[in-house]
Amino acid sequence: MTALEPPLTAPRSLVEAYRLLAAELWRPIAGGTDLMVQLTGELGEPPQRLLDLWRIDELRGIVHDGEAIVIGALTTYTELRRSPVVAEFLPALTEAAATIGAAQIQNRGTVGGNVANASPAGDTLPIWLATDAAIILGSARGERAVPAAEFWPAYRRTARADDELVLGVRVPLAADRQVRFRKVGTRRAQAISKVVIAIAWRAPDDGRGATWTDVRVALGSVAATPIRASATEAALDGAVPDAATADRAMAALMAEIHPIDDVRSTADYRRTVAGRVLHRLVRDEGGW
Ligand SMILES: Cc1cc2nc3c(=O)[nH]c(=O)nc-3n(C[C@H](O)[C@H](O)[C@H](O)COP(=O)(O)OP(=O)(O)OC[C@H]3O[C@@H](n4cnc5c(N)ncnc54)[C@H](O)[C@@H]3O)c2cc1C
Repeated sequence: MTALEPPLTAPRSLVEAYRLLAAELWRPIAGGTDLMVQLTGELGEPPQRLLDLWRIDELRGIVHDGEAIVIGALTTYTELRRSPVVAEFLPALTEAAATIGAAQIQNRGTVGGNVANASPAGDTLPIWLATDAAIILGSARGERAVPAAEFWPAYRRTARADDELVLGVRVPLAADRQVRFRKVGTRRAQAISKVVIAIAWRAPDDGRGATWTDVRVALGSVAATPIRASATEAALDGAVPDAATADRAMAALMAEIHPIDDVRSTADYRRTVAGRVLHRLVRDEGGW
């Protein structure tokens, strides 16, 4: 057996998966689009044994329960794009799913994998932060919901314990809430984000230009973890989306984030583009 062929088992139920995870350390694998590139060991310690989740149907499905939409961990980006529930209640997620990888990745990559992989460039993560979503975890010890704001405490770390699985994401619905998603990469497909932003706010549904409240601004690829930009939120909260607000929010965001230089981009580019994208978004919403 080589490092490229770690032992794999494929339980058919959560109970069976929980039993295995309680007894030994297993590395879950869903679509494998992140994990397969780690099997060579070039990117850190390769997994010793794999727990294939693909046959656990309890991890599938997108449900609207009146107060929230709950997205199963094994939901693929293709399923998100095709979901009428997501299109109706969280169209920004439909849009985000369309920007991830290309068709092959969208058919195989999952929401649970994006969440558990904890890349600061994971494109759905700012959406979960902006919508006050909770990550649902389960194990033989029971289930718990961790607010997205607490789920990624440090670079590539999560609140998940070794014996837990990500069961899904619960996105609470809020009256009059708007959510927007913007991603900047080298090209329109197969591009890891240089900057990704999700923004949410509440405003009466009476046309453009109304006062924004409960503003959330979340970003990826500008810090070691996906982040909320609280000073920028304060600059937008209680304001109307006019030119002065856009200028203020852009300045606040550019002062608040401290991205790094890396192979994909420079810190300066990321800071400037994040500010400009937010400015443009406010302008579009203000209709000026
Ligand atoms: C060519 C290419 C393009 C890509 N483009 C993008 C992009 O544009 N945007 C983007 O955000 N990502 C992108 N990715 C990364 C990847 O496709 C996504 O992060 C995807 O959502 C991972 O899901 P998966 O099911 O394949 O995860 P896997 O690779 O199966 O797993 C990823 C990690 O999550 C863990 N895990 C998976 N499911 C669970 C679970 N239910 N419970 C606990 N742990 C779990 C695994 O142990 C592993 O650590 C790209 C990858 C490739 C190869």
